Amino acid sequence: MTKKYPCPQCGKETEYLLENDYRPFCSERCKLIDLGKWADEEYKVPSEEPATEGPWVPEDSESEDQFSPQHLPSKEALH
Ligand SMILES: [Zn+2]
Repeated sequence: MTKKYPCPQCGKETEYLLENDYRPFCSERCKLIDLGKWADEEYKVPSEEPATEGPWVPEDSESEDQFSPQHLPSKEALH
């Protein structure tokens, strides 16, 4: 008794076998494609954002302000 389902990568009818190391994919190839797709998207998101949106300079100067130790309670601690 085998359960068949479409491979999430290529849509090919795949038998649900315990010995299939590539479940839920039909083959190693489809599994690697899916993993590569996710890794590719992860890399794309951060690299595309600064390229399409310009306001990187004001954002940077703002973060520099936050890094300045003006609001640190070190002076009060010395009192
Ligand atoms: Zn497949």
